[in-house]
Amino acid sequence: MTPPVRVRFAPSPTGFMHLGSVRVALLNYLFAKKHNGTFVLRIEDTDAARNLDVARTKIIEDMQWLNLPCQEGPVVGGNYGPYLQSERHEIYQEQLNELINNAKVYRCFCTPEELDAKRQKQIAMGKPPRYDRTCMLLGDDKAKAKIAAGIAFIWRFKLNYDQGIEIRDIARGTINFDMKNFSDFALTRQDGTCTFMFANFVDDWLMKITHVIRGEDHLSNTALQAALFDAFALPLPTYWHVQIICNKEGEKLSKRDFGFSLEDLKQAGYLPIAILNYMATVGVSFAEEVQSLEELINNYNFDAIHHTGGIRYDVEKLKWFNHKWFNRLEASTLLPSIKPILYATIQESTALDDATLTHLVSKIKGDVYTLPEMVQALSFMFVAPIVSKHELISAVGEHAADTVTTILHKHSRTSNIPAMIDAIKADGLAAGLKTKEILGSVRLILTGSAQGIGINDLVSMLSAEEITQRIKCFLGAT
Ligand code: GLU
Repeated sequence: MTPPVRVRFAPSPTGFMHLGSVRVALLNYLFAKKHNGTFVLRIEDTDAARNLDVARTKIIEDMQWLNLPCQEGPVVGGNYGPYLQSERHEIYQEQLNELINNAKVYRCFCTPEELDAKRQKQIAMGKPPRYDRTCMLLGDDKAKAKIAAGIAFIWRFKLNYDQGIEIRDIARGTINFDMKNFSDFALTRQDGTCTFMFANFVDDWLMKITHVIRGEDHLSNTALQAALFDAFALPLPTYWHVQIICNKEGEKLSKRDFGFSLEDLKQAGYLPIAILNYMATVGVSFAEEVQSLEELINNYNFDAIHHTGGIRYDVEKLKWFNHKWFNRLEASTLLPSIKPILYATIQESTALDDATLTHLVSKIKGDVYTLPEMVQALSFMFVAPIVSKHELISAVGEHAADTVTTILHKHSRTSNIPAMIDAIKADGLAAGLKTKEILGSVRLILTGSAQGIGINDLVSMLSAEEITQRIKCFLGAT
């Protein structure tokens, strides 16, 4: 019987989540959902960096913001915890002891300087750099003497150079690794803590992970982790090394590229669903690109994956997804996303009730691509534009500007706004103006921009007093 699918997202707390990690997290999530499996969040924090708490919290917050809930993890717990590697030291030690007892590891006393010198020498001789097993051949007495002298050591795994290990990768099929191409690798550091290589293996094993979905930059680690599975006579998980993300020029996405970190995108007003939708569909062909997570779970075909190499990230395409999601989501659903940025930008907006704000957002969301653009499009509601005659002339030409001004004088006292707009339009047309010139002028006077929101929508957004006031203000200034 095949065991139930269990996948994990295993980020290291670096302080920020980058786009490649977002994609890996998402693919794990979709894969788990598609197979009725379990999505585990495990934080790989053995490499104690500063501000660890902040960085761990940030991962959890980012996953919440993305709306990718896990069934097991540091916050929700689960049967295979703890889910922070920093709390699993004894578990690793127990498995290390097993390897020590079976003579599958040896102590290495070489200093980083010695190792570096060996490496340089091998490179100079045109050989692939590999640990030369000095310490494996040390002999018991010498090793004991070094221990007694308090010389720091690490545990290295003794590879069988004659061995070939085969793994199965969802995107690549079968991959064979020849152990003679690898080096005896470190399972611990000099301070006794475990390396990523060892902790990652122990956890995938003990957390019963069936599918390891991670970036293809981990492909070479897989050979060594597979050797560890073999040392414990365990079956290997299935792997999926997913493509790394590149910029438009095809280079690996870096800090210099906008959107490298999720925080960039959050700050720039992209919706989590737009980011996820783009990350799920980039490099894959779908009949319909805009898809919710539920739709992606149904439509993603994990059996037809053969993508390798980088995928290109293009912020313009992300903008397009954001725009599509503004269209697709109800205005009321967008309120939690728009409010913080609106309130921070336009203090007066905090006085609006939700129903009014929903109405305003519903009128403009189809025209904008990001949340700051949405705020910008709403700003005329709170700050009356000061439009000069000169600006009106620039927008519609002198003749139209003069004619519209005369017509506005005639109708500016009318309090029935729809009737006033109809009358302005009728008089303008009768005077030979085009609809665009007439309504463009009114729009400019009311919003500060000759293009944009339809006049009927504007009438529903601004109060009658405000409209009359803005027209009077313009006429007063002409
Ligand atoms: N902790 C690793 C990273 O953040 C991921 C390892 C894995 O997924 O196996 O790159």
